[in-house]
Amino acid sequence: MPNQVILKPNRDRPLRHKHPWVFSGAIERIDPAIPDGEVIDVVTARGEFLGRGYLKRKSQIAVRVLTWDAAEAIDEGFWSRRLALAIAWRVMGDHEARRLVNAESDGLPGLIVDRYGEWLVLQALTLGIEQFKPVIVQQLTSILRPPGIYERSEVDVREKEGLPPASGVLAGREPPDRVEIEENGQRYLVELKRGHKTGFYLDQRENRRKVQAYVGEAEVLNLFSFSGGFAVAALKAGAKSVVNVDSSADALQLARENLRLNGLDANEADFVEADVFSYLRRLRAEQRTFDVIIADPPKLAQTQGQLERAARAYKDLNLVALQILRPGGYLITFSCSGLITPDLFQKIVFGAAIDAGREAQIVERLTQASDHPVLLSFPEGEYLKGLVCRVR
Ligand code: SAH
Repeated sequence: MPNQVILKPNRDRPLRHKHPWVFSGAIERIDPAIPDGEVIDVVTARGEFLGRGYLKRKSQIAVRVLTWDAAEAIDEGFWSRRLALAIAWRVMGDHEARRLVNAESDGLPGLIVDRYGEWLVLQALTLGIEQFKPVIVQQLTSILRPPGIYERSEVDVREKEGLPPASGVLAGREPPDRVEIEENGQRYLVELKRGHKTGFYLDQRENRRKVQAYVGEAEVLNLFSFSGGFAVAALKAGAKSVVNVDSSADALQLARENLRLNGLDANEADFVEADVFSYLRRLRAEQRTFDVIIADPPKLAQTQGQLERAARAYKDLNLVALQILRPGGYLITFSCSGLITPDLFQKIVFGAAIDAGREAQIVERLTQASDHPVLLSFPEGEYLKGLVCRVR
């Protein structure tokens, strides 16, 4: 008899629709002998097989499904096939960077693998993936032959899984402190051992190219600039100037270097270490204005309980940004909080425009880059949305 999780009656529908999460509330019984992290079969009250995944009892998501095929074992061949499939369609140049494995959306819940040039960076977000890390590393090595695989599992979600943060070399050599990558014809330095996420916001790659259409000759304000991704793209596309604002001195230092790497000039005044929310108020008080404002804040709503506060923060941010935008200018505004739906985000920006007394048109809608796909059966995988608003 295989390890089993038995669902309550009539709780099988999401799984039949291939949603990969089994919530603890849907479970009737779990064999007490099965340790967390182990592979188990999810079955209906009548014993019918639904899916096979890994267990984590105390978590709200008690099982994450790895396969819908009763005949597919979670063995070396499984990891090899799934990884190869995810990697195969990510077409990239040797020096570019891509997300190779996007967790649930690539049929590998809890696993992120990013590639920066020849180096790989891995995040194991769950106990289940933690257990399989050796075979995953082994299969990645045999498929891609990278010089090294580095772990960046320092994320908060691991705490809920009872796992300590983890980072360091998983295979091969230690990558250099900075790896240079190419993106849309620009060059960037990435600190993959200590930067945010796995070193770079790969999800904004296509948007960094798209904003280039709006910034010719413009004076740009780049809020939450991080390492200057949007700044380099904007200056390369002919922006007159870009003021970068970030609370991290390290991020701004890397932004300076990224501009230099691309042969772009900047004044020291274009790098502002400040809290965006208070800095925007100062700009407003000083009656400074801009032609284009890019706002890409961190995830402001982490949990349902933070939603209302986050919505207010997004509104406040966009309100002041709209107030200091020149007529005919563009507000390019993002939210990477999955809990804020595209519809809600649009309403928030609308509310901000009303309060700012500005009329605005949406001229383009933006989303996460194509290497961060969204499974139709797992809409939760969509988190990044952006609006390009032309303001009258
Ligand atoms: N647009 C960037 C990614 C932005 S990530 C890119 O394309 O690469 C969010 C950034 O916001 C981080 O660099 C973080 O340091 C910064 N940050 C977070 N809270 C902030 C605040 N209140 N004020 C200013 N910067 C903040």
